[in-house]
Amino acid sequence: MFDLEKITRKNILELKPYSSARDEFKGAQGVFLDANENPYGPWNRYPDPQQKALKNKLARLFNQPAEQIFVGNGSDEVIDLVFRIFCQPGVDKVLTFTPTYGMYEVAAGINDITCLQLPLDADFEIDLDALDECLAREDRIKAIFICSPNNPTGNLLREKDIMTLLQRFEGIVVLDEAYMDFSEGTSWISRLSGYPNLVVSRTLSKAWGMAAARIGIALASPEIIGLMNKVKAPYNISALNQQAAIAALDNDAAYQKARNIIIVQKEKMIQALQALDLVQELYPSDANFLLVRFDNANEVYQKLIRKQIIVRNRDTVIPNCIRITIGTPEENDALLQALKEI
Ligand SMILES: *Cc1c(COP(=O)(O)O)cnc(C)c1O
Repeated sequence: MFDLEKITRKNILELKPYSSARDEFKGAQGVFLDANENPYGPWNRYPDPQQKALKNKLARLFNQPAEQIFVGNGSDEVIDLVFRIFCQPGVDKVLTFTPTYGMYEVAAGINDITCLQLPLDADFEIDLDALDECLAREDRIKAIFICSPNNPTGNLLREKDIMTLLQRFEGIVVLDEAYMDFSEGTSWISRLSGYPNLVVSRTLSKAWGMAAARIGIALASPEIIGLMNKVKAPYNISALNQQAAIAALDNDAAYQKARNIIIVQKEKMIQALQALDLVQELYPSDANFLLVRFDNANEVYQKLIRKQIIVRNRDTVIPNCIRITIGTPEENDALLQALKEI
């Protein structure tokens, strides 16, 4: 059985969080002489530490109560907080399925946590036998990071494998759904109530076009969200970024339009890339990028750079593969033209 207190670091359970001036006074009107702010200027006041207005928008978007939503300074903060709340430096471990998003391993390294890596199978799916064997062999695995749709492979992971994992593992399961907006798959957010150990991670950086504002989102039980709020920096999301995020979320039409264009462009790129002799294999994608295998990815990558087209060379993690983001129609045409010239 999952026991949140048992897997949380003792110092975090006992931590008395910093209480900011704005946490203590709840009203909106008043003479504010409590936070040593400058009384002049357009951005002189500290932001809402709990991001209430933004969370109310997100609550409506994800159909979850605000108390089950955490907003981080990008998904990076969400990932880092999972380490700082649950993983004892130098002692605990986490598990990832590779190839996957590099930040899990980097965050593990920063926090002095061993990052165990199980390779995804030939279809880029979780190998449940290897998982069982790993969970039987290793103790002190505190969290498992799953990315679905996975970066850089692009595929959704099988739902029943994720369900099996959630049932067999008694630690925290972080499900990174950064690319779910582009997918036909079903988000796990609606199933949170059935899994007290599940943390779903989303972001405004991809489909919402807000990468510059650094808005990462975690959805989980009120208890896990409470721990994240306790450990985060008091003013982790600037007022400028909160405002920008709210404005983006208010413009659902722009979101839908951009997402639809990207999805249509992706289908066009699949057709066009498949027709090129240079392309050896094109992997199925549930995201806004394509993983493409070439004869010689390093050579293709260098030649594209010379034409000022920058793609993500993933040769070191998947031999001869390049990850290509779907851009505007003009950008995609420029890439296709450049590949034809190679
Ligand atoms: C791009 C991406 C994110 C988003 O990160 P932010 O810090 O929110 O910009 C998260 N997870 C994965 C797997 C990604 O590829």
